[in-house]
Amino acid sequence: MELHITCIPGDGIGPEIVTEAKKVLDKVAEKYGHNMIYTDILMGGASIDVHGVPLTDEAIETAKAADAVLMGSIGGNTTTSPWYQLPPNLRPEAGLLKIRKALNLFANLRPAVLYDELAAACPLKEEISKAGFDMMIMRELTGGLYFGERKTIEENGVRKAIDTLTYDENEIRRIAIKGFDIAMKRKKKVTSVDKANVLDSSRLWRKVVEEVAKDYPEVTLEHMLVDNCAMQLVKDPSQFDVILTENMFGDILSDEASMVTGSIGMLASASLNDTRFGLYEPSHGSAPDIAGKNIANPIATILSAAMMLRYTFDLDQEAAAVEAAVEAVLKEGYRTIDIMSEGCEQVSCSVMGDLLAEKIR
Ligand code: NAD
Repeated sequence: MELHITCIPGDGIGPEIVTEAKKVLDKVAEKYGHNMIYTDILMGGASIDVHGVPLTDEAIETAKAADAVLMGSIGGNTTTSPWYQLPPNLRPEAGLLKIRKALNLFANLRPAVLYDELAAACPLKEEISKAGFDMMIMRELTGGLYFGERKTIEENGVRKAIDTLTYDENEIRRIAIKGFDIAMKRKKKVTSVDKANVLDSSRLWRKVVEEVAKDYPEVTLEHMLVDNCAMQLVKDPSQFDVILTENMFGDILSDEASMVTGSIGMLASASLNDTRFGLYEPSHGSAPDIAGKNIANPIATILSAAMMLRYTFDLDQEAAAVEAAVEAVLKEGYRTIDIMSEGCEQVSCSVMGDLLAEKIR
């Protein structure tokens, strides 16, 4: 199979971690008989330095022509980098917002997995963490409170701020379909999270999710109020498979779920539209403090590449091979500096990439 992938190395540690992800993908291609065709584009500070803008229209067209985008990370030190002297619409992060909009990426996927070998990094009590967890947070990304009308007014000398939370049934349906599709590739359980005891938008959310669920008889659906979900994530995270939720709830819950894994360098993510196209990137930033030192953890980017294989290319076996390689390398005691613990062997970013590529079976 030919896989057309646009790569955005980006800034900071971005180029280092994308290089390692390509190394692993190339090994997958060799073992499974695929052809990886990469085209690099500039985004963020790297694009500002060359073109004066964080993302050019040509770069967007290149991304659109591919099957998927694999990204490292963009941005620099927000206090010292000259990129942050520019107006907000010309700063590195504006490139990210622009590409999300241009590619209509409305669904954000963030897995939170506790690896046995990294259980010590989990801030939960052992009696809770020992059950392990492997969940996927599916967050609506382009609607709801963050995109509603807002204004600040003054009424009778009192300042008043108004934000509006709207969802129409089409916005809910398309993300729900994505959530159920993902659940079909996992443990076939969806926990739809809302605040239906208070909000109309949540009551519509619940109705539409139930309608979509009828097309997925194999998937178990449960509803959970967002406040309860926040508690359950630290009380019993093993109960979750796919958490399906709206923009603001997902923003908060996905950060909470990430924190309970305890390892920022391990967290993958994907943003999808209503085709098979996706943008895959680690959840962390460009880590300018460690850029160029060959010490960054490339695993989040490599696991993002595994998500790309599974969700854009439907290559479940190849994705599982990458995930199994990560588990095997951790089991053998190799660690980058951010996940280092006593008795393990510390390796560089590039050696971690070599070890993972070697383990692709
Ligand atoms: P960060 O995630 O880059 O770094 C936070 C801390 O985690 C740092 O100490 C860093 O060294 C460490 N870290 C992050 N990733 C690591 C890895 N793979 N291996 C080892 N250690 C790692 O967050 P920040 O410092 O707040 O942001 C830096 C820049 O990244 C900013 O310009 C920010 O806007 C940008 N950013 C970009 C994205 C993105 O591209 N999607 C996301 C978040 C932040």
